[in-house]
Amino acid sequence: MSQTQDESTTRSQPQRVDVLVVGMGFAGMYILYCLRQRGLTARAFEAGSDVGGTWYWNRYPGARVDVDSVQYSYNFSDELTQEWEWSEKFCAQPELLRYASFVADKFDLRRDAKFNTRVTSAAFDKETNLWTLETDQGDVATAPYCIMATGSLSTPYKPPYPGIDDFAGDWYHTGTWPHEEVSFAGKRVGIIGTGSTGIQAIPVVAEEGNHLTVFQRTAQYTTPARNRPMSPDEQREFNEHRDEWIREMYHTFNAMTGYPLPTKSIHDDSPEERRDFFEKRWEIGGMPQAMLATYKGVNVDMETNTVVADFVRDKIREIVKDPEVAERLCPPTDMPIGSKRPPIDTDYYETFNRDNVSLVDIKKTPIERFTEKGIKTADAEYELDAIIFATGFDAMTGSLLAIDIQTSDGSSLKQAWSDGPNSFLGLMVAGLPNLFTINGPGSPSVKANMIVMIEHHTDWIMDLIDYLAANDLNRVEADEDAQSNWVEHAREVAEATLMPVADSWYVGSNIPGKKRVYMPYFGGFEKYWKLCVEIAADGYRGFKLSRSGTKEAPPSVAAE
Ligand code: NAP
Repeated sequence: MSQTQDESTTRSQPQRVDVLVVGMGFAGMYILYCLRQRGLTARAFEAGSDVGGTWYWNRYPGARVDVDSVQYSYNFSDELTQEWEWSEKFCAQPELLRYASFVADKFDLRRDAKFNTRVTSAAFDKETNLWTLETDQGDVATAPYCIMATGSLSTPYKPPYPGIDDFAGDWYHTGTWPHEEVSFAGKRVGIIGTGSTGIQAIPVVAEEGNHLTVFQRTAQYTTPARNRPMSPDEQREFNEHRDEWIREMYHTFNAMTGYPLPTKSIHDDSPEERRDFFEKRWEIGGMPQAMLATYKGVNVDMETNTVVADFVRDKIREIVKDPEVAERLCPPTDMPIGSKRPPIDTDYYETFNRDNVSLVDIKKTPIERFTEKGIKTADAEYELDAIIFATGFDAMTGSLLAIDIQTSDGSSLKQAWSDGPNSFLGLMVAGLPNLFTINGPGSPSVKANMIVMIEHHTDWIMDLIDYLAANDLNRVEADEDAQSNWVEHAREVAEATLMPVADSWYVGSNIPGKKRVYMPYFGGFEKYWKLCVEIAADGYRGFKLSRSGTKEAPPSVAAE
């Protein structure tokens, strides 16, 4: 039985379901679908006013996906696949949000969700074997299982510059963009941040604003997306062969397909041959792999990495007419390409040839404060009518730690992660039974196609819930040793590469005081997926399964 939004209960009468879900982005929606298929009752809470997660919040100008749209789609329903057509290779945010809404309508998913409601705490009672969620709207809901579908990049970070309240103009964060239209026509706009978000927003805002000042701390490497309309034939072709594509995705590093893996070393080609090869890839564009997967070893070998990075730096010098601006846009030579999350762009470097765009190096002349008129750096004051923060997120851990998660015997997520995030497979944290995380730290998640990750993690968790019910068990917990071994393995894998070298949200260095740990698993999706299958086949090796609690029966699983 499910309850509708109107039936949501109050503190005095907790709502009891089989599974609680936090978040109604692409993960939360799929989880609800799966639970319903099993005849399990669920209650989801979502801070936004509707479904969509990332694509609900990030409405900034230029926001679009940078995985091919056809691959950034759910795979669980053939009917859904056949009914939906993408209009572009890399679709823009409004279309992605329409897709989320279409899915929610088609499977009637909103029925089990309460929107405009933020979960504030999650408490597990070891006696009753129940999680209890409380929300900022006064809801109380309980269930034996709780799944955190809170997103990896969902807690926006805004640097605490002094004087923000003095600024007389408007300011925005890209991750909480207003729903109403924002016009920059005739305005002097400043944007702070040149990560994937800034790189998408800057060319679009430059077209609209009277003047755009870009405040850049670290220059990024970006490569052309070469976005284009999708033809219906292309979509049809993909749909017809979807099963093969999905199979292929499961045998890749990042759960994406269609981009050939490198076969050669840089030493197999002369500098001229390399240049020709890079030029071809630059022309084709597409996902970052187009440039990164040119030669073997780009992620591990600095010499190879530098050859690729130097090509991008040469491209910047070729595209950007003012040599001084071009140099400012060239990423530092000690920052390997790919070690920050590689963006793709449409006319990013070209934008700096416009008369109405200027670039300020805030590593050299840091922002000191906001003033009534704009932004004051170490050597100038910039008068602005609007300021955009494209300053990123407290990634992977921020949204989980924002919820007070604890158990009746005194374990808490805050304490478990006081020395950096520990998780077994990115799915469970030792000491927190029956609590699952989708794309938690330690899963390949953000280094792969998020939709495939979401479906993989959810399916694995569903199988585990089925297994528990079938064996008259009701509690699962990650084993401390298994978790420590996984964390150590993930650390070794990352440290054998160039990935942790750069300061980035991957290592948490964008958040003052956050422990520096390379959070995603960089061993590749194929390896991870196979290990998850093996662990399940081995009776969930590394997880403690039990029948616990005195007052609760396990949820009954209806036949699928
Ligand atoms: P980000 O990659 O963390 O970039 C934040 C930017 O703000 C960086 O340029 C950073 O400079 C700057 N910054 C942060 N704190 C600052 C401070 N205190 N003072 C000055 N500058 C500061 O964040 P993002 O661009 O929002 O992207 C986050 C992630 O979201 C991406 O990596 C990607 O995974 C995802 N994303 C995906 C898409 C897509 O699929 N199409 C689009 C956008 C974002 P430093 O580099 O010096 O730290």
